[in-house]
Amino acid sequence: MQIHENFPLKPYNTFGIDAKARFFKEFSSVEELEEYLMLYSQYPIFILGGGSNILLTKDYDGTVLKNNIRGIDLQHEDAEYVYVKVGAGENWHQFVLHCIDHNWAGVENLSLIPGNTGAAPIQNIGAYGVELDEVFWSLEAYHLQERRVHTFTSTDCEFGYRDSVFKNRYKDQFAILSVTFQLKKKPVFHVSYGAITEELEKMGVKELSIKAVSQAVINIRSSKLPDPQKIANAGSFFKNPEVTNEKYEELRSQFPNIIAYPLAKGTVKLAAGWMIEQCGPDKIGTSWKGYRKGDAGCHAKQALVLVNYGHATGKEIYDLSEEILQSVNSKFGVTLEREVNII
Ligand SMILES: Cc1cc2nc3c(=O)[nH]c(=O)nc-3n(C[C@H](O)[C@H](O)[C@H](O)COP(=O)(O)OP(=O)(O)OC[C@H]3O[C@@H](n4cnc5c(N)ncnc54)[C@H](O)[C@@H]3O)c2cc1C
Repeated sequence: MQIHENFPLKPYNTFGIDAKARFFKEFSSVEELEEYLMLYSQYPIFILGGGSNILLTKDYDGTVLKNNIRGIDLQHEDAEYVYVKVGAGENWHQFVLHCIDHNWAGVENLSLIPGNTGAAPIQNIGAYGVELDEVFWSLEAYHLQERRVHTFTSTDCEFGYRDSVFKNRYKDQFAILSVTFQLKKKPVFHVSYGAITEELEKMGVKELSIKAVSQAVINIRSSKLPDPQKIANAGSFFKNPEVTNEKYEELRSQFPNIIAYPLAKGTVKLAAGWMIEQCGPDKIGTSWKGYRKGDAGCHAKQALVLVNYGHATGKEIYDLSEEILQSVNSKFGVTLEREVNII
């Protein structure tokens, strides 16, 4: 069994943080994972996917286990759906492209989200009007203490906005092994969100297809979001906060331009990026947007995305996030919640 000691994690996190793991091991099957656990149960464990939703604030004093379980298998189909089981270590976007090639609909709006399939249910990934729970069927996860496989249905996962049971009650208890999706044979298009319709027009698309929607999403994302290969980042650093209608009305009377989306349950979601743009570092009096302190910064086009311009430490990025959080709180009386997992 190959276990690396004092292992550099910089190539394994899209924030490009130069932290080390005391031990590092990759596994490609549940048997390999079990073998490791039998021999080295004394060390804390962190399951790693593509490293696109973590901020390493220090070295990890335990074992980082990188999940490389592969495979995309059509399990069965009926008149309306296909049921496809995907190994946790499959790259998410490659899986989306595979679905498009096979004409399986439902994940096209989630094109180009970085990371692996096993992590996708953890924060119920979402983009352009679609969330993972809409195509989720079940998942298999290995309980690291009990040493056995559990099956979770959608209800068991307790999905919410960028949330699931794996971020709460079962945090760090399971290694997700595979995810099964229920995908449509006949697509239902979601094109009203963001600039998808305009992009499709720009592309000269006359007849909608999942391939065209995926390409439109890819084009929009590529023009708007910083590519972690060029500027290290982990996507949106904070969630969009949800407030009561009363709180929203109070804010709207003070800040008439506030960007908000009413939710079906009667609450209101506020655009965290807009709020961050309205605040800034105290003494300078400018906006956080485009702000840079050393190599830690806030992206010039997307205030919600914190970036590492080169050699920022995880602690520096975290401290900047704390300053942003405090400033939003003192201006709007709203507490932002971090979407990125702080390690
Ligand atoms: C440029 C950019 C854009 C992004 N855009 C979006 C977006 O539009 N929508 C969105 O929802 N997210 C977005 N993200 C966030 C990120 O892509 C997703 O959260 C993704 O699902 C993370 O996958 P990962 O494999 O990289 O997870 P990692 O960062 O490796 O891990 C994240 C968490 O999941 C746990 N984990 C990972 N794999 C497993 C497993 N198999 N079993 C158990 N636990 C596991 C880890 O322990 C950690 O706590 C973006 C990120 C970037 C960098």
